[in-house]
Amino acid sequence: MVKETKYYDFLGVSPTATEQELKSAYKKGALKHHPDKNAHNPDAAEKFKDLSHAYEVLSDPQKRQLYDQYGEEGLEQGGAAGGMNAEDIFAQFFGGGGAFGGMFGGGMRETGPKKARTIHHVHKVSLEDIYRGKVSKLALQKSVICPGCDGRGGKEGAVKTCTGCSGSGMRTMMRQMGPMIQRFQTVCQDCNGEGEMMKERDRCKRCAGKKTVIERKVLHVHVDRGVKTGHKIDFRGEGDQAPGCLPGDVQFEIEQKPHPRFQRKDDDLFYHADIDLLTALAGGTINVEHLDDRWLTVNIAPGEPITPGIIKVIKGQGMPSFRHHDFGNLYIQFNVKFPEASEVQNVELLEKVLPPRMQQSQPPPDSMVEDFDLEEVDPSNQARAHGASGLDDEDEDGMPHGAERVQCASQ
Ligand SMILES: [Zn+2]
Ligand SMILES: [Zn+2]
Repeated sequence: MVKETKYYDFLGVSPTATEQELKSAYKKGALKHHPDKNAHNPDAAEKFKDLSHAYEVLSDPQKRQLYDQYGEEGLEQGGAAGGMNAEDIFAQFFGGGGAFGGMFGGGMRETGPKKARTIHHVHKVSLEDIYRGKVSKLALQKSVICPGCDGRGGKEGAVKTCTGCSGSGMRTMMRQMGPMIQRFQTVCQDCNGEGEMMKERDRCKRCAGKKTVIERKVLHVHVDRGVKTGHKIDFRGEGDQAPGCLPGDVQFEIEQKPHPRFQRKDDDLFYHADIDLLTALAGGTINVEHLDDRWLTVNIAPGEPITPGIIKVIKGQGMPSFRHHDFGNLYIQFNVKFPEASEVQNVELLEKVLPPRMQQSQPPPDSMVEDFDLEEVDPSNQARAHGASGLDDEDEDGMPHGAERVQCASQ
């Protein structure tokens, strides 16, 4: 369920609308209500603005999610309320070129302006934080257009196109190779491939002529409850800026850190619990520390023996499911700890309370019967037991097999 539907209503779509449905709803509405077509109808301008703003929010997965969860208020708190002006959204949507002129003048622009690179960042999050949800404040360093020179690199008019390469930054060179003349491209030496030149004294002090400076920017990344590894969160236009390019995007990818107590599979949690033999047979309780400071006290009923390795479930105590008000399950696998030999006394008492020993298959009356006792396995001897197959390197006296064989052959 979404908190409010106002923006969806502006566009005339349902809150479950797909990206494509949003797009076509905006397209229809924007063309109908655009001020250029409704010069004598002030209501249309207002509608056009509302429509554009609604589309701007809902077409951005991050903002849409914020709006669905918290409504308009959430957008304001999330700093996502401001946004672009309606004409810009319109121009961007229809491929620029002066709104209606471009649109109705025939043909949309195939390719938009160049865009600066996207900054990718893997955001590692603990299972606790995914269980509860949180907002991470992440700082990033990005290039921004130098405010000292507005991205020109120097004083206005000081920047000249490089004469050596006519501004391309590359020069074609010729080289004689025997009877052939080879042509090859090389970076222009005059301008270091920049295609521009300016006098040293005209260079912008702030960016040293580089046109951009590095800025630290803090982004608020919403880690939603139940989010999964691989989930991507986009900040459009928050990435690098470069002269003549649209600002790039920032993309965070969620990666869940491994957890010492729980394993996660989708929305379910898996937990290993050690219990003693008495609890396994006669019942008791175990305590499980959950991910939100709660402790679950789990009752093991007497008379329902827990066998080693058995898996039981506590419903609804798994992870919250992403964007649903639902929870997965908590599966507990039991490891039954048997007592040490020294701890077992009064075997006669055990014989009284436990079921009788299993019936063994009996040897036929005429068979040979030998008695044996069990011994402990010596771990250091175990290797030798396997080595009996002939893979062991050394013989009893420390002589390699091969060497002995050679000796035998020469005798
Ligand atoms: Zn500058
Ligand atoms: Zn040049």
